Amino acid sequence: MIITKELAQKWFTVFAEKVIQDKEQLSEYDRIIGDGDHGMNMARGAQQLLSSWQETPPVHLADVFKHAAMKWISGVGGASGPLYGTAFLEMAKAIGTNEELQHEELVNVIKAGFDGIKKRGKSDIGQKTMLDVWAPAIESLEEKQLTTEILETILTKVTALKATKGRASFLGERSINEVDPGAASSKLFFEALLEAGDLIGD
Ligand code: ADP
Ligand code: MG
Repeated sequence: MIITKELAQKWFTVFAEKVIQDKEQLSEYDRIIGDGDHGMNMARGAQQLLSSWQETPPVHLADVFKHAAMKWISGVGGASGPLYGTAFLEMAKAIGTNEELQHEELVNVIKAGFDGIKKRGKSDIGQKTMLDVWAPAIESLEEKQLTTEILETILTKVTALKATKGRASFLGERSINEVDPGAASSKLFFEALLEAGDLIGD
């Protein structure tokens, strides 16, 4: 998949639409193992991004990620706002002035986002967070094997984990077999990439 500004904007547009559509479901997951605000938080950023693009659409490829970073950092709140915001900002930085990403470059850009979450969240894989979707999704993408079915399997595996980071960790064993809201929204992020690629890409 080759990423142009057009495709990246489609990626984030589809992501925002999915987040808005699944708002209730994401908050429901968070009500069980957190404080119930994940859907609301994420949908706020998504709505702000879509609205802002009606006025000021991105000019360069990196702008897509910069705009998303700004909305997530300033508008989303909770743990996920700064975490997604940092990821998008690190992705923008990794893109720089590049206007077209080859497959390998795309993988590296998403890895930069993953590293950003890890650093900002002082977290790592295996703790039942969004990172547990990002890591295997990046691996599958690198091998050009990523599909929505694989994303489904990845989320199921995260659900089986015990949370040791974030609010859900307060539940200890009781977090096992509950869906992590940030993992669920991260699944939407990668699904959106696949859909945007099918709609526009090769
Ligand atoms: P809050 O927990 O502040 O209410 P949200 O509900 O918006 O924030 O987001 C919760 C999600 O954020 C979790 O489901 C988890 O995936 C993710 N998360 C929380 N803390 C961390 C962290 N330190 N590193 C990575 N992801 C995290
Ligand atoms: Mg929450």
